[in-house]
Amino acid sequence: MSENRGVKTTENKAYMSCKNAASCGSCTLISLPYEQQLKKKQEYVNSLMGKYVRVSPIVGMENPYHYRNKVHITFGSDKKGNVIYGTYKEGTHTIVPAKECLIECECARQIAATIASLMPSFKMKPYDEDRHTGFLRHILVRKSHFSSEVMLVLVAGTNVFPSKKNFVKAVTERHPEISTIIFNINDKNTSMVLGEREEVLYGKGYIEDVLCKKTFRISSKSFYQVNPVQTEKLYQKAIECAALTGKETVIDAYCGTGTIGIVAADKAKSVLGIELNKAAVSDARINAKNNNVKNITFVCDDATKYMTRFKAATAGIKPDTAGMTKLKLNDKSGVDVVIMDPPRAGSTKEFLKAVTKMSPSRVVYVSCNPETLARDVQYLVNHGYKAQQCVPFDMFPGTEHVETVCLLSQKTPI
Ligand code: SAH
Repeated sequence: MSENRGVKTTENKAYMSCKNAASCGSCTLISLPYEQQLKKKQEYVNSLMGKYVRVSPIVGMENPYHYRNKVHITFGSDKKGNVIYGTYKEGTHTIVPAKECLIECECARQIAATIASLMPSFKMKPYDEDRHTGFLRHILVRKSHFSSEVMLVLVAGTNVFPSKKNFVKAVTERHPEISTIIFNINDKNTSMVLGEREEVLYGKGYIEDVLCKKTFRISSKSFYQVNPVQTEKLYQKAIECAALTGKETVIDAYCGTGTIGIVAADKAKSVLGIELNKAAVSDARINAKNNNVKNITFVCDDATKYMTRFKAATAGIKPDTAGMTKLKLNDKSGVDVVIMDPPRAGSTKEFLKAVTKMSPSRVVYVSCNPETLARDVQYLVNHGYKAQQCVPFDMFPGTEHVETVCLLSQKTPI
């Protein structure tokens, strides 16, 4: 922690302001002292969740800078034809050139600077979205918090990459922290950063990180929480709320690459992860195997559809998905705990209805949007559950986003 950036939240109330805050627009709270950012988020969660439960104090960061371990930087040209790199201005495709960003891991812009300085000698041009000319569109940098390994993804508008070996050599000589480089081709007119086609140019094509003592594989496209320091605290809280003793059957819905379920599995009888994204499910299976976790199964399905069918399964209809049969279904659903971590839109009424029919003693709701959390908690409260705990976590300092863990348990256990 350097002197001027060190933030002991209680001692140093100053927040270093970002020079690009107005032009970039991503970090709407970055100009506020960190204490005030936390206060704002606390009040926001209180206003939505306070009627269900006393909201715990928000868990902030010791050092709320450079926490993002996944960084996307766009390349372009200025009017004079010089290479520029930076972030798109919020809601546009205009590049805000910036050599620094206060929330990204610092190595990302250093790598971008190196690439920008190498480009002229390699006659490499930034991609022009309007004319479909040039080469480099974006870079994506992902960093392992645990091992400090770095992945660099070079996203180009064409698959023709002249002198690629020499380019890779030049970059890795200057950045020995880079352990793998991937060439991703995105020739579509799209706001998606990554295209489908990929080639590993250097290293093994993925990096690994450790969270809650488990190892997770991160490939260019896999979902992985962007703030590992806070994620560890968030997962610990979620698993503490699940109150596992080793006897429980647990559902980890919207499980991504299986992180929460894999961490929880040591303390549960069995875990079933449900996830819609195929690539995430295959990463989840690899993660379970690499950690030697045998009591977890994953199904690739829409969480609502699966949960609704699961309800049917408990009513005696033969389950039609392999994962379902792996759970021991008794007279009731056999599910003791449902952990759910849906995207910002929250869950669906049908999903929540299926949960109440399934009747687990505890529901642990991990949310990245307090508005949809409050809506879904209202449903569960109307259908036999009571909110017992609600803990906000500051996963995204500088921005207005806030993550929350909410524990609900049955009002009268059956
Ligand atoms: N629990 C994970 C992932 C949370 S992000 C973690 O902490 O890393 C939310 C996840 O929900 C994403 O992986 C997304 O692909 C998945 N998802 C979105 N809609 C879904 C749906 N309808 N059914 C199942 N999974 C869904």
